[in-house]
Amino acid sequence: MFDWVPNKHLTAEMNIDTNSLFYLTAINWHAEEPFLQFQVQGDQLSQSTSANELELRFRVAAGRERQCVGTVDRSKDGSTRVQCDSPAASARQCDRCQTKENIAAANMHQAHRRGRDAIGKAMAAYLTHPHRLYVAIFRDGATKVGTTRGLSGGNRLVEQGAWFASYLAQTDDGFFVRELEDSTTEKLGVRQAVDTRKKFAGHLQPLPDQELESRLTQKANEIKKFLTGEVGSRGLLLDDRWSNPRIEDQAWTNLVSYPAVINQGAHEFAIKSMVGRLAVCNRTGFAENFLVDLQPLLTHPLETGDFEIDEFIMQDSLF
Ligand SMILES: [Zn+2]
Repeated sequence: MFDWVPNKHLTAEMNIDTNSLFYLTAINWHAEEPFLQFQVQGDQLSQSTSANELELRFRVAAGRERQCVGTVDRSKDGSTRVQCDSPAASARQCDRCQTKENIAAANMHQAHRRGRDAIGKAMAAYLTHPHRLYVAIFRDGATKVGTTRGLSGGNRLVEQGAWFASYLAQTDDGFFVRELEDSTTEKLGVRQAVDTRKKFAGHLQPLPDQELESRLTQKANEIKKFLTGEVGSRGLLLDDRWSNPRIEDQAWTNLVSYPAVINQGAHEFAIKSMVGRLAVCNRTGFAENFLVDLQPLLTHPLETGDFEIDEFIMQDSLF
C-alpha cells in the first residue's frame, strides 16, 4: 500500500531544485501516525513520507494546472489509492474520478438500503467484514457517531481528528453497522459529520479535556441505552474508550492560526505533529506553534527551488 523509498525532494535538503512539479495527493494514517503522500510529476509511483518532523519548503507554481488526487478502491482486503494524472476539475478530482467516488460513497453509505446486489462485488466484499460503531468528540465539544472497518486500531479516529471516542458496538458486517448509525442519528439526533472549521476552532480554543471526557461519557451512555434494544444477535455492545495519542503533547496547546494562505505563494515550515488533516508547524524565527490545514494543498502544483519565502503578516490580537 505504501512506497517507502525515501524522497529526496521532501527532506531537509528539499531546497535542491528538482525541476519537477510535485503534488500532495493524500494525507494517510498508519498505526495512528500521519504520512503525506506525494507524487512527482511524471513518476509512476507516489511516495509516502512520515509527516512528523517533516521539513517542507515549497512554492505553489503559478499558472500551472492542478492535478486530480485520484480515488480509493475498496475490496475485501481494504482500501488502496488509485493514482490519476488528469487535471483536477472539482476541488480535488477530475470529472471521471469525481463520478467514481460519488458512486462509491453513495454505495457505501446506502449499502444497507440498496442491498448487496446493487452495490458491486468489490464494495460488498469490503463491507462483508466486521465493523465498529463509535461516538467521537472533538475539541470544540462537537460529537458525531461513525463507523470503522475492522475491530482494532484507531486510524479512522485520528484521521478525522477526534480527541476522545468510545466504541459502542461491533457488528459482523458494514451493512448492519450503518443501520445502527442511521437509527442513532434518527432517534437521538447525533450527527455523522463535523465540519473542519469547527475542528480547527476547537484546537485554537479547546474545551478542557475533563469537560470533553464527561460530555462524551454522557453521550455514550445515552447511545448505549438505545443500542441495547437494537443490536440483538447481529452484534455485540462494546465499552472501549479511545483517546488521541496527542492529548498529552504540548504542541497542541496555545496554537496560533497559520498566518498565510497555504495554497498560494512560498512556504517553509517543519511539521511537528498532526491531528487529522491539521498540522502544528514551526517556522524558523517564530516561537509560535502554528495550526494549518494541509488539505487545501491537495491538487496544487508545487515546486522547490531558490526563491524567497513569503513573509508572515502577524495580526496582534486586540485585548
Ligand atoms: Zn482523476
